[in-house]
Amino acid sequence: MEKGNLSINSENILPIIKKWLYSDMEIFVRELVSNAADAINKLARLDSLGEATLSDDEKFTIKVSLDAAAKTITFSDNGIGMTADEIKKYINQIAFSGATDFIEQYKDKMEAGGDIIGHFGLGFYSAFMVADKVEIDTLSYKPGEWAARWTCDGGIEYEIASSDRSARGTDIILHIGESGEEFLNDYKLRQTLRKYCSFIPVEIYFENTATPPKEDEEPAPINDIKPLWTKRPQDCTDDEYKKFYSQLFMDFNEPLFWIHLNMDHPFRLKGILYFPRLKHELEYVEGQVKLFSNQVFVADNIKEVIPEFLLLLKGVMDCPDLPLNVSRSFLQNDGYVAKMSNYIVRKVADKLVSLATADREGYNKYWDDISQFIKYGIIRQEGFYEKVKDAVLYKTTGGEFFTLAEYLERNEATIGKKVIYTDDLDLHGQYVRLFEQEGVDIIMLGSRLDIPFTSHAEAREDGLSFVRIDADPSSILGGEAEEVDYDALTALFKESIGEDIPIDVQKFKNESTPAMIFISEEAHRMKEMSRLYGLNFGDLGLGAEKKLLLNSGNPLVKSLIADNLSQDDSRMICQHIWDMASLSHKHLDPERMERFIRRNVEILTRLTKV
Ligand code: ADP
Repeated sequence: MEKGNLSINSENILPIIKKWLYSDMEIFVRELVSNAADAINKLARLDSLGEATLSDDEKFTIKVSLDAAAKTITFSDNGIGMTADEIKKYINQIAFSGATDFIEQYKDKMEAGGDIIGHFGLGFYSAFMVADKVEIDTLSYKPGEWAARWTCDGGIEYEIASSDRSARGTDIILHIGESGEEFLNDYKLRQTLRKYCSFIPVEIYFENTATPPKEDEEPAPINDIKPLWTKRPQDCTDDEYKKFYSQLFMDFNEPLFWIHLNMDHPFRLKGILYFPRLKHELEYVEGQVKLFSNQVFVADNIKEVIPEFLLLLKGVMDCPDLPLNVSRSFLQNDGYVAKMSNYIVRKVADKLVSLATADREGYNKYWDDISQFIKYGIIRQEGFYEKVKDAVLYKTTGGEFFTLAEYLERNEATIGKKVIYTDDLDLHGQYVRLFEQEGVDIIMLGSRLDIPFTSHAEAREDGLSFVRIDADPSSILGGEAEEVDYDALTALFKESIGEDIPIDVQKFKNESTPAMIFISEEAHRMKEMSRLYGLNFGDLGLGAEKKLLLNSGNPLVKSLIADNLSQDDSRMICQHIWDMASLSHKHLDPERMERFIRRNVEILTRLTKV
């Protein structure tokens, strides 16, 4: 047996970088522009510390120039610059050792398409994804230094020589090779710049040597160096928020409202989350949250950082402490990222609760639009219910909005710790009327999310249950007991309607309704679930959960046993009562509907003969 080490040498490092590190070729634009912005920020900092002397009218800029004929793209900055020694140190050495380190350290976590630069000091080398040859032409801010020119064609050899450059700063000149040819296209390059660099904090100018600006033309920077999210919330106006939203998302519908996050502790985190007008069916909702690091765009919809349910919203989030470019598996395993994600959730919940408390009238108006979002959050995000419960509203059939606490305060004395709801107002009209007469508030539920949402709320609120209006008759029952022959009545019904349904006789508070059908909450939920998930539980004996409740206080019901009706008449009355009760419970099948209508005609015909 023989053991040994595989050797990796620097000669194959660039091909490895090209293949593995960058999932997306276009990020070289971001890397080189953010290096330029860093170089400028460093110089500005040194200046403020009195370590560098700049003239008062110093204007920091980054220029990106395209020369398609010469096949070059040049990134120029007037930042800190590099001395020849610094080039040797930062460009020649660190990156290579950083790369081997990196491969050693992260070989297990490497995944196809994960890109892992910046953080590891390899950003500059992304240039070789598109360029056959790269030149650095630079002059340091340090007095007495000479300008240097570094050239490398992507192998292991480089040249470094003096340059005749006299202006402080750095040019990175890419000689674009075959792999990067698409970036010699004006539109493609501008588009990439716009994508990653629209909010970088230093002005960026784009120049195409084939179409130079006219003499009197004032070139405009392609970026906004102070995007709205970097300002303090108290300094931003509603109009600015709306304008920023429509520009960023090309959405000309106004957002409902927004949350501006702006904090330094315990994380540095800034951002604006907009609540768009949501459609009610979640499938149609597509949010977009853009992640930035120090105003440099990283990616859209990174769900490792931004909790998944917030991706229904639209917005921007700037987390400067995240590595600029990170692999997803790295983020997933990062405790810091998880903490930040939790923090964002808490901030969003706090904001919703404060909106709900500070401006309840206004918040009520939002509710229909945001309820799906909040319920989805409750279902998907551990701990969100507790944080947001005071901003969860229940809308009544009368058009009022209550929090759970308010609802219980109004209704608990009558119905106990229950929420009575309907998921079909058209069908449940009769029940709603009876319950309302008893002063019970009926809540409207019925979206796809409501079944899991109510289960969640029940699990978290001790003793609370949600009860569909046709599941619990207790609040409409009462009054003194009526003397009825229970057995005779149920037997008559059973025989007349020819259906095996449990029948109970009770006195309703209201006399006018002869009978109603009730079905247990569990049975109804099972049915709903099977409908939602396309499962077929068959009938599972659910019929047994259904019950016909006869009102012993109703004159018609009383007459069935007290009066001497003909057998035909009493049978017809039973059938009719049964059909009427069924009608406000579910739709009758066509045959039964047909019979019901025929019976109506018969009854009316009899009236005319009296
Ligand atoms: P990182 O930016 O993550 O440190 P890079 O490979 O992108 O890694 O850059 C390596 C180093 O080279 C930088 O840290 C910086 O010191 C130097 N550098 C790169 N670009 C410039 C520039 N435009 N101006 C001055 N220094 C630069």
